[in-house]
Amino acid sequence: MLTADQLLEELLMRARGVTQTEAVPVELALGRVLAQPQVATISVPPLDNSAMDGYALRAAECVQGAVLAVSQRIAAGQMGGALTAGSAARIFTGAPVPPGADAVVMQEHCSVDGDKVRINYQPKAGENIRRAGEDICPCDTILAAGTRLDAAAMGLGASVGLAALPVYRRLKVASFSTGDELVQPGTALRAGQIYNSNRYTLAGLVQGLGCEWLDLGSVPDTLAATLAALQRAAAMADVVITSGGVSVGEEDHVKAAVERLGKIDMWKVAMKPGKPLVYGRVGEADFIGLPGNPVSTFVTFVLFARPFLLKRMGVVEVLPKTYRVQAAFDWAKPGDRREFLRARLAVGEEGALQAQLFPNQSSGVLTSAVWAHGLVDIDIGHTVARGESVRFIPFSEVLG
Ligand code: AMP
Ligand code: MG
Repeated sequence: MLTADQLLEELLMRARGVTQTEAVPVELALGRVLAQPQVATISVPPLDNSAMDGYALRAAECVQGAVLAVSQRIAAGQMGGALTAGSAARIFTGAPVPPGADAVVMQEHCSVDGDKVRINYQPKAGENIRRAGEDICPCDTILAAGTRLDAAAMGLGASVGLAALPVYRRLKVASFSTGDELVQPGTALRAGQIYNSNRYTLAGLVQGLGCEWLDLGSVPDTLAATLAALQRAAAMADVVITSGGVSVGEEDHVKAAVERLGKIDMWKVAMKPGKPLVYGRVGEADFIGLPGNPVSTFVTFVLFARPFLLKRMGVVEVLPKTYRVQAAFDWAKPGDRREFLRARLAVGEEGALQAQLFPNQSSGVLTSAVWAHGLVDIDIGHTVARGESVRFIPFSEVLG
């Protein structure tokens, strides 16, 4: 039996990042992984420019109440001329500050009188001027290799003039669910059957990471069917992820199938939910077999499969950020497995963030995962008293 940390370490050791890259237009780069660091060749902003609509002037010439001639008008996108002594330039947000001016007074502090302006304000030199290069200078590394590109990163890339970005190719992830009891939604249930929910949970999790999801549906509990599905999946994907069939029961064929077609490295982890977990390799593909209980599938994916897939995708930071919050519950019985409890956050009376547990922590109760905001993480052998600090993994960190 491995601890959750040992399993994660073993898994990450085996995850080789993809090497093939492609260029994608910046607007289509959402969720892709940057393959090379991006270095700016220009300053942002390129020139000193106005932060306000108002009047550009020399601060020293401008005692409060000064009346200045308006010698020019500079809108964004235009270049003004040098500011003549004793005058002001009408200027708009984003317009380059003309040579000679060292401050901009916002228009709310000015009154216009024909072609003159009265400045009802005492500006300081530098006021309301955004300096050239105050965001980015040439040679700054603006985005590191291994970054997952989000909306802000896309905008930043465009701000230095990049039209396309080099990214790793999309990872292909094939998945199937095992279980004779499973039927697809859209079909009526017969006695003994349940709807296959893991297929959909996995579809969301895999696609949320920006991987290509290759769906092999559900597979009956026979060795022959499991072998066939596994072989097909391994031939088409970088990583195969399955749910169910990894216990040691007579109806559990996943482990045997992986052993038959490839090799298995480990398969048990001291955590709840989700004790059995298989890692293996089949041909060129990695294999991860998640336990079948819907909450176990979900939790083991976010804790183990997700960092593994991220590393395979070329991402550098693969672990979710965790936070400390206050327990709004007692956890009296120390367990022999690490517990990941579905919990919701609420602001307590003293303003602290408090975690409340979903009342039913059974690994079959998927409602808990929808209700919860994240997982409270309790170490093996630990108890928690109400008010103590506990580790919390927000779902916002791991869904996607
Ligand atoms: P297993 O890991 O195959 O022993 O399954 C453990 C439990 O999870 C059983 O109650 C299964 O019926 C249930 N289960 C397995 N796969 C799925 C699935 N794809 N969707 C919903 N429940 C499942
Ligand atoms: Mg099963």
